[in-house]
Amino acid sequence: MLVVKIGGAQGVDLERVSRDVANLVRGGEQVIVVHGGSAETNTLSEKLGHPARFVKSTSGYTSRYTDRETLEIFAMVTCGKINTLLVEQLQMLGVNAFGLSGLDGRVLIARRKDAVRIVENGKVRVLRDDHTGKIEQVNAELLHDLLKYGLTPVIAPLAISPVGEALNVDADRAAAMVAGAVGAESLIVLTNVPGLMRHFPDESTVIPHITPAGLEQALALAEGRMKKKVLGAGEALQLGVERVIFADGRVETPLLRALEGNGTVISA
Ligand code: ADP
Repeated sequence: MLVVKIGGAQGVDLERVSRDVANLVRGGEQVIVVHGGSAETNTLSEKLGHPARFVKSTSGYTSRYTDRETLEIFAMVTCGKINTLLVEQLQMLGVNAFGLSGLDGRVLIARRKDAVRIVENGKVRVLRDDHTGKIEQVNAELLHDLLKYGLTPVIAPLAISPVGEALNVDADRAAAMVAGAVGAESLIVLTNVPGLMRHFPDESTVIPHITPAGLEQALALAEGRMKKKVLGAGEALQLGVERVIFADGRVETPLLRALEGNGTVISA
């Protein structure tokens, strides 16, 4: 089984990725798709007069500040648009895709981060109205049932809190949790770069292979949201996924190329 994370950054070609997914599904492979939507959320937020705001946590990670209005815009983009269009693409290619977010059937249960400590202008502040969560549980049984019915799950990165609130979750870490929970052998993370670069943005410095012991060093090389991918890769391996591949989503056959080992492969 294979989990494919499709990045929300500009440049990833949904049609090409869908064609590869369709080929794999036709060949008998079980595939689960998880997607992002960050770039388009920024664009729509701007248009709606509620521009995206990013905050830096005290532990050094950058994330989207998600007040209720941002959460609603995030849902419009990820569930309303990207999920629907991916399902459409796959259906046109003969794949019986089934779109859902982590709220549906409580597929992704997350704990709400009710107090986020951030650093702003050198000072620590506490944000309390953030609708962001950390996934704690995946309903793998439901995903297996969908696959058993010949459906290909396409998951938007929203989760549900234990009391039923919608939460924004990081799509890379959601994909990692899903891959671990369903027992996938591989997690392919498609983005708009050819892999993790030692000297970003010099593409000739893509690191071909990272072992679990090298993840900490890899985390130091990753900037911004790339850090979440490295963290997710570590989490996936810990949950039993054999290999995580960061690969280029802009090329002609992105998944096939990744499965041939192109990109950054993280494995034991
Ligand atoms: P997506 O939306 O596909 O999940 P992100 O924009 O979150 O993608 O993360 C991918 C981006 O991470 C790349 O476009 C690149 O600009 C950035 N990045 C930061 N550090 C690195 C690095 N060391 N190697 C590769 N990409 C990096």
